[in-house]
This record gives sequence, structure tokens and C-alpha cells, in this order.
Amino acid sequence: MRGERRKPRFGGLELRSRWGLSSDLEVICNRIYELADKEGVGVVFTPTITLSKDIKAHKLAKLCVLKYEGSSYVFLSRPLSNSIRDIKQILHYHVPKVMSIAAAELGEWIQLVEMAEEAAFNAIELDFVAAKLLSSRYYHASRLLIEVANEVASVTRLPVIAKLRAYPAPSVELVDKLASIGVGAIVLTPHLTYTVGSHFFRIHSTSLSRVALSALAEFLSSEPSVQLAYITDEVWGTYTTLLRSFDLVLYDVSFLVRHVKLPQIERKRVPLSWRSIPSGAKLVVEGSEAAHIAEVCPCLAIPSKEEYGLVEVDRKCVFCGLCLDVYQGLVKYAWEPVIEEGPVQED
Ligand code: SF4
Repeated sequence: MRGERRKPRFGGLELRSRWGLSSDLEVICNRIYELADKEGVGVVFTPTITLSKDIKAHKLAKLCVLKYEGSSYVFLSRPLSNSIRDIKQILHYHVPKVMSIAAAELGEWIQLVEMAEEAAFNAIELDFVAAKLLSSRYYHASRLLIEVANEVASVTRLPVIAKLRAYPAPSVELVDKLASIGVGAIVLTPHLTYTVGSHFFRIHSTSLSRVALSALAEFLSSEPSVQLAYITDEVWGTYTTLLRSFDLVLYDVSFLVRHVKLPQIERKRVPLSWRSIPSGAKLVVEGSEAAHIAEVCPCLAIPSKEEYGLVEVDRKCVFCGLCLDVYQGLVKYAWEPVIEEGPVQED
């Protein structure tokens, strides 16, 4: 029909817009998804999940900040920190939803695909970057990636998307091969992942995101045979020519920081493990500081009224760890209901 604009498409999905939330966003809270929905998000990728049992055994924080200066930041997040139960919370949003999965063995990939179909997600993302944390066999093993993608594409009718590292850029041969076996689109992430013992880390850095994007110029000029998305740490609304050449732009920490207020941060020491959150504990904050601590919470779980004594964080808290990290010493654990006595009144 004349005048009717065609909706953008990505990997077989019809989208509302050409931006979305990436699977590198580990914090699942209603407020963030509601804000994204309100702002016209085109597609939502769930945080990547796996079946590996030992990963789900601990309750650990998911986010910490190494540097924050407004338009420049370095965050760490904890990959694979959500379960199938967690990601099902976003199923009721009326945007296309892509379930992101990672596994060490072929049988586990297939099991996860079955779970995505059963839960009625609209597409599957094979997160080969997170898979490298689970099995070193995925390092430099294009053959293995192709084998997994081929098997998955042959057992599912859902569109299949692959997630690869943006730096170094994937080879054109790998991308062509993935396209030829049914992978409809590729997501490129500039985020580096690493392990320290049993702890997994992902680096989100504005500088790293820009460097990785520039390094993709040659790859983009080869006109790859598949649709491409880029996960960016650029400030919202900054679109360089290179970024515009992608079919889809995805956000995670950069979306989150738009909706919280952080102080300037510059940390000298990089954590070697994730903060452990004691089982059954609630968080409490110093009432006199509550108003500004509340500004860092992406879920609006901290009452923002200044009060006397300790104030309990409410049930919207998803234990992302951001307030514990940014306001160390002012946010504490509590096991019992907090009953604080007010100041003694002088007669
Ligand atoms: S209260 Fe703290 S730990 Fe809980 S969701 Fe908010 S920032 Fe995260």
C-alpha cells in the first residue's frame, strides 16, 4: 500500500524499530523492560542462559563499576547469571523475544532449543561467546560453531541467530558458512569475557566498543551475506556512519545507565570474584542516605524518602549488586524485619 512503511526485519523477525536490548544485559527487572517498551524497543534478547548446574549454585552479584564518567565507563557483568525461570518473566512483553543460549555439549544446545520452543520464544540466539566460558573447545574452533549451528537449524523451526566476538572480526568464510546452513543473522559483541577460577566476567567499556567498531570497517565493506547487529556501549542516540550500517543496534549497560544516576567512579583494583549475597538476606540502607542511594537502583527498589535509621529495600530488588558496589558500607544485609527506634525525646 502506498505510503505504508515496511517494518524493519532481522533474522526472520519483524521488528518495531531497529534497536533492541542485548543478551549481555544480566539485570532482569520490570522497570527496565517497561522503559524499553515505552521507548519503542524493536526486539528483546534474553540474558544468555545455560544448563550448567554449578553456575546456578551460588547467589552472587551481577554488576560492578570500575569507572564511570558519564559518557565513558567500564562495567563488569556476570555472564550466564540467569536461569530459564528468570528469563520467562519477559515473555509477556509484546515485542519479539529471542532466547539466548550457550552450552558445552551438542546435547545441551538441543535441550535448550526445545526449552525455547516450549516457552514460545520467537527466535534463538546461539551465544558462542558465552559458550567459550563453558568449554575451551569453542576457542578458535569455527568447525565446532558450524556443527552446532547446523544441528540446531535442522531441529528447529525458530529463526536462528548467532552471536560472535566483534574483535577480532569473524572471517567472511565463517559468516558465509553460517548463512548457508540457515543462520539468519549475526550479533557482534565488543564485550570481552574471561574467568577467574569459577567466576565469569564480562567487560563493558565505551572505549573497547569504539575500537571494536572501527576494526569492523573492513569486514563490513566485504558485504557479508547475512544481516548484522552490533552491541554498542555508545551513549544513547550516538550513531556513527559505521554503526548506521548495521541492521540492528543493541544496548545493555548503556541502556541501563541512562535510567540510573551514578556518581563519578574510578577504581584502582579489579575484583577477582563476585560479591556473595548471603542466602535469605534482605538489603537495608542508611535512611539518611536513602534518597541518593535510590538513584542507582535500576529497579526502583530502594525507598527514596529520607528516614531515621535503616530502611528496607523492597521486593523489586533483583540483587544485581549495583547499590552494594557503588555505596559500599551504606548498604547492608539484614535477616530480620528492621525495627529501628527513633531518637529519644527529651522531656
Ligand atoms: S536494591 Fe541494589 S541490589 Fe537490589 S536491584 Fe536495586 S541496585 Fe540492585
